[in-house]
Amino acid sequence: MELAELVARRPFPAAGLLLGLTRRCPLSCAHCSTGSDLFTREEPDAGHLERFVGSFTTENRPDVVMLTGGEPLLRPALAERLSTLAQGAGSRTALLSGMFFARSGGGRGGGVRGGRSGGVRGGRSGRRGALPPAVLRAIRSVDHFSASLDVHHEREVSRADVFRALHLVREEGVAVSLHLTGTGGSDPYLADLTRAVEKEFGGRVPCLVNEVRPFGRAASWARAARTGPDPEAASPCSMAAWPVVAFDGRVLACCNQDAVDRRPAPAHLDLGHIAEDDWATVRRRALESPVLRMLRTVGPAHLAARFGSGPRPGSYCDGCRALGGDAAVAAGAQAVAGGAAGELLDLTAAMRGSREGAQGVVRRHGCAAYAPLVVAGGPALPEAGERDIR
Ligand code: SF4
Ligand code: SF4
Repeated sequence: MELAELVARRPFPAAGLLLGLTRRCPLSCAHCSTGSDLFTREEPDAGHLERFVGSFTTENRPDVVMLTGGEPLLRPALAERLSTLAQGAGSRTALLSGMFFARSGGGRGGGVRGGRSGGVRGGRSGRRGALPPAVLRAIRSVDHFSASLDVHHEREVSRADVFRALHLVREEGVAVSLHLTGTGGSDPYLADLTRAVEKEFGGRVPCLVNEVRPFGRAASWARAARTGPDPEAASPCSMAAWPVVAFDGRVLACCNQDAVDRRPAPAHLDLGHIAEDDWATVRRRALESPVLRMLRTVGPAHLAARFGSGPRPGSYCDGCRALGGDAAVAAGAQAVAGGAAGELLDLTAAMRGSREGAQGVVRRHGCAAYAPLVVAGGPALPEAGERDIR
């Protein structure tokens, strides 16, 4: 499965599922919004995760399951089992890694290197070494493998090490991509990094390029559309489409890091718990909730302006989370989006969001200037001066 196929499914409610396997991570990226480190023990129970993924059926399962963290490859055997289970029901799987296992030396924080565990060694012209066996088995089990790379990651794992490891993954026949983050279309770091990727892989490794934002890695798949001059105008939230399994096993309707982390979860974003609920139940809640339908079609600010009875806190997502206990919002959403009309609105919004495929999704929710890179071998980028500067 190529990156563009995966990203193109992002606007469709419950077409994907994000599974946080652990909050632990051996790296210490300065911008880590999941607060991950090697000592954090928060992670969902493996049995609960397997039971939940085991509840997929060929008729009712997500199209895409994204294994993420923290660092999902700290639980490689579990990642492999979950991937195999999901694929058994017809889902396709992807894994997003910070690449701790690729470090060839000099980095901080306990990556797997050399010796019996087989660290990644050598330069482009000499791609010696091997991936750690358990990591390799997990990577072989997925349909797509993505590596994170940005200025903070590069302080933990060098660009050269990440590239070497990606060559090895490609040689296993697994489709790969890079998730790159910078400050926008005019960021010289992004220009340099994307040039380096092109030079290293000759356009065969697609990139999902995002702009710095206060969300975690899982959230890099999408974000709320930019609001225009009227903050109460319809501004749909595309993050409310794919359910997210958080580190305590609770299932949230979106990947906003505060929503994922804080408890109790706002009622309208709480889809259940993997210890008690199966996929069919979570999916039904995600698809049929009138409030979620309205978040996906008009967004939280519009919903609050139209029906809200309480104060409207500052940010887009703060405002959304505050809607949780507002009975007037629930009643208003029920009246507008509770029935078949709401279902149709929701589908129409998803179709609109997917109209221009993966590139359109990135143009709206990622770094527009680099949208063509989401497609492997896609069209050449315009010269730097011609790019959309945000
Ligand atoms: S690799 Fe990701 S999860 Fe790990 S510290 Fe860096 S940003 Fe956090
Ligand atoms: S908190 Fe609300 S507005 Fe923010 S990403 Fe989640 S669903 Fe969207």
